[in-house]
Amino acid sequence: MQRPAAEALLRAHRELVKQGNGLLIFDAYRPWYVTKIFWDATPSEKHQFVADPAKGSRHNRGCAVDLTLYDLRTGREVPMTGMYDEMSERSYPDYAGGTRDQREHRQALRTAMEAQGFTVFDTEWWHFDYRDWPRYAIQNVPFEEIR
Ligand SMILES: [Zn+2]
Repeated sequence: MQRPAAEALLRAHRELVKQGNGLLIFDAYRPWYVTKIFWDATPSEKHQFVADPAKGSRHNRGCAVDLTLYDLRTGREVPMTGMYDEMSERSYPDYAGGTRDQREHRQALRTAMEAQGFTVFDTEWWHFDYRDWPRYAIQNVPFEEIR
């Protein structure tokens, strides 16, 4: 990730540790060519769940992160209202289903992230964009070339 976004993420993590949870990161920076692969592999009726390569993804800018909470005591993922990368309405951050505990966990993640300048994506409870994303270019640097 871009350094200011990574530092904001670390602050969110430190707040969540006080509640007994850590941040489990699924994905962060992603080269543009990967966005293209995802788009091509996804049926068109599900395209609202993947970034359009014509516009690029905020992941391509190093300003987006996909993540959830894990329980520091057990090391297990905290149950949320839907699974990571699930292509259904359960992925919406305002989805009203699931258990009360699941909705509270989802809200705890969102609250901690929003306090550090991140915004949740409207179709994915696990995806957050850092506020300065327009300042960073879309990049296509492969992982093995990152230092
Ligand atoms: Zn994402």
